[in-house]
Amino acid sequence: MNTENSSPFGGGGGLYIHIPFCKQACHYCDFHFSTSLGKKEAMIAALKRELELRKSEFATENVETIYFGGGTPSVLELGEIHDLVSTVYKHYKVADTPEITLEANPDDLSLQKIQALAKSPINRLSLGIQSFFDTDLKLMNRAHSADEASESLKNAVRHFDNISIDLIYGMPDMTLDRWKKNIEKALSYGVPHISSYALTIEPKTALANFVDKGLIRPASDELAQEHFHLLYETLLQEGFICYEISNFGKPGYFSQNNSAYWQQKKYVGIGPSAHSFDGIRRGWNIGNNPKYIKALEKGELPMETETLSTKDKYNEYVMTGLRTIWGVDVTRIQKEYGEKFKDYLLMQSKKFREEGLLVLEENVLSTTKKGKFLADGIAADLFMINLS
Ligand code: SF4
Repeated sequence: MNTENSSPFGGGGGLYIHIPFCKQACHYCDFHFSTSLGKKEAMIAALKRELELRKSEFATENVETIYFGGGTPSVLELGEIHDLVSTVYKHYKVADTPEITLEANPDDLSLQKIQALAKSPINRLSLGIQSFFDTDLKLMNRAHSADEASESLKNAVRHFDNISIDLIYGMPDMTLDRWKKNIEKALSYGVPHISSYALTIEPKTALANFVDKGLIRPASDELAQEHFHLLYETLLQEGFICYEISNFGKPGYFSQNNSAYWQQKKYVGIGPSAHSFDGIRRGWNIGNNPKYIKALEKGELPMETETLSTKDKYNEYVMTGLRTIWGVDVTRIQKEYGEKFKDYLLMQSKKFREEGLLVLEENVLSTTKKGKFLADGIAADLFMINLS
C-alpha cells in the first residue's frame, strides 16, 4: 500500500475513473463490479479522496481526457457525475477541451437523462448496446432489451455528436445474417464510432459454466473470423477507419482516451481495480470495493506497482502496435530497446511478412488485412521471452 505522500506516478495524460457497480451480472463478464449499490455514496467519497491524493501525478501536465468506465458509470446520478468532474477540475489542470467519456447502458438512458447528460461536462457517450436482438441479449444476461437498445441510441444521437457503441460478435448461434443486421442497424443511426469485440469465454463466468455443462457451444474461430471480416469490409466502405482491431471510427472520432493508451501514453486509473501507467511503472488498485473504501478512508492508496523491464515494454509495444494503424516503429524499437530487440523483431516477423500477414513499410511493421484478425497470435510469436 502507498500512503498519501508516496504516490508512485508522475507526469500527465488521461484520467480513468472506474465505477464498480452494475445492475446485474452479464454472463460473459469478468470485470470488477458489484451488483449491490449500497456502498455507492461511500465509493464516490473514496473516488474523490483518491483523486485528491493523486493530484501530484499531473503536477506538470494537463489532464487531456477523462473516462468514466466500469462497471456501469450510467448508474450514477447526474449530481454524482458533476461532483466527480468538479473534483477533477478542483485538483487537476485540465486541458481546454478535454474529451470526457461516459460508458452507459441503454436501460439507464431515459430521454430525460440523455438530455441532462448533454448539458453536463460529458461530451462523449459510449453505449453498451452489444446486440439489437433479444436472443443475444438474453444469452448474455444484459439488463436491457433490443427495444431499449434502439430507443436509447435513437435519443442519444439526437443529443450527442460524439457517440460510440459496443457490439459483440462470435456469439453462440449467431448467424452471419444476424450479425449483418446488427451492423446495418448500427449504421442506420449514423454513429461515428463502433467498438466491436469477439465474445470470449472467460474462466469462472456463467458462460464458461454453460459451455462446461454442454448447454451452449461457443462459435467456431472460423465463424468469428467471418464476422470480423464482414464488420471490417462494411465499416471501411462506410468511411470508418479500423484504427485498432476492435475499434472503428470516422475521421475525427477516434477515442482520444484509448488512442493515448495504445500509444503508451500515461494514464492514471482511479477506483477499485483501475490500472495506471506512467511509461516506466504500471500500477493497479485493489479490486475489492469495501477494502478500497476502507483504505481511502485512512488516506492510503490501495495500489500495487511494478517497474516494467525493457522486455515487458517491448512486448507491450509489439502487442498494442500490431493491433493499431500506428504499427510497430522499428526505429523506435532500436532507439528505446536496443539493437538486439530490433534484430529479434525483424527475424521473428520474417515468416509472417512472407505469408502476407505483416508488412514492413518505411520501417514500420503492421498487420495486413489478412493478418488483422490474427494480430494477437502473431504478436505473441514476436514477444521476447528470454534475452541474455
Ligand atoms: S454491464 Fe459491463 S461491467 Fe457490468 S456485468 Fe455487464 S459487461 Fe460486465
